[in-house]
Amino acid sequence: MFGYYYGFDWSYLVLVLPALLLALWAQAKVKSTYARYSQVRSYRNITGAQAARTILDANGLRDVRIEHIAGNLTDHYDPRTRVVRLSDSVYNSSSIAAVGVAAHEVGHAVQHATHYSFLTLRNAIIPLTNLGSTLSMPLILLGLIFNSSSLALAGIVLFSLVTLFQLITLPVEFNASNRALRTLEGYHMLEPDELKGTRKVLGAAAMTYVAALAVSLAQLLRLVLLFGGRRNND
Ligand SMILES: [Zn+2]
Repeated sequence: MFGYYYGFDWSYLVLVLPALLLALWAQAKVKSTYARYSQVRSYRNITGAQAARTILDANGLRDVRIEHIAGNLTDHYDPRTRVVRLSDSVYNSSSIAAVGVAAHEVGHAVQHATHYSFLTLRNAIIPLTNLGSTLSMPLILLGLIFNSSSLALAGIVLFSLVTLFQLITLPVEFNASNRALRTLEGYHMLEPDELKGTRKVLGAAAMTYVAALAVSLAQLLRLVLLFGGRRNND
């Protein structure tokens, strides 16, 4: 039963595999781009944490805290606690990569404070997305076992919620990066030649979200193809 889904049939080779390769490439690309520009110290010598604090304060977000978090590329903004968490290589680093990532995470805090529509929408569908990622595959498998296209269809619809979530993530991420670059330029925290490197780092990070959407879309399309032509016994 499992082999039918996870085996190397043509739809896997044509749809899912290229998307997975794109995702692997995007992961490697963001790592190498980040490694490269984390060696370039910013002229003003401000750290990621300092850049984040400055931008937060300038946006009236003095109550949003900044914390240090372990790991690499683990940086994020937590909307529940309103905390920007910056990783080892961002918090105390004054590289143009660190400043860019810090400004990007602050971008999410500003989106949250200003009720940016796509972020609001994304947060609203998180419970549905969790339900979708937990139940979709079991329902599809049950649909196969009992030869029920209703169960399989329910599973596919739930899976599409995960794809929808990843689609809505794209404007949220691109907007946070655009905000970051505009702010760093506007506040003269980075010089124009430094911004080119920062833009590459944030662009590479954005590609990983595009790739994740591609993987999800490929899997969704494959499910539709696998079940679309089946006759049911319901
Ligand atoms: Zn982000």
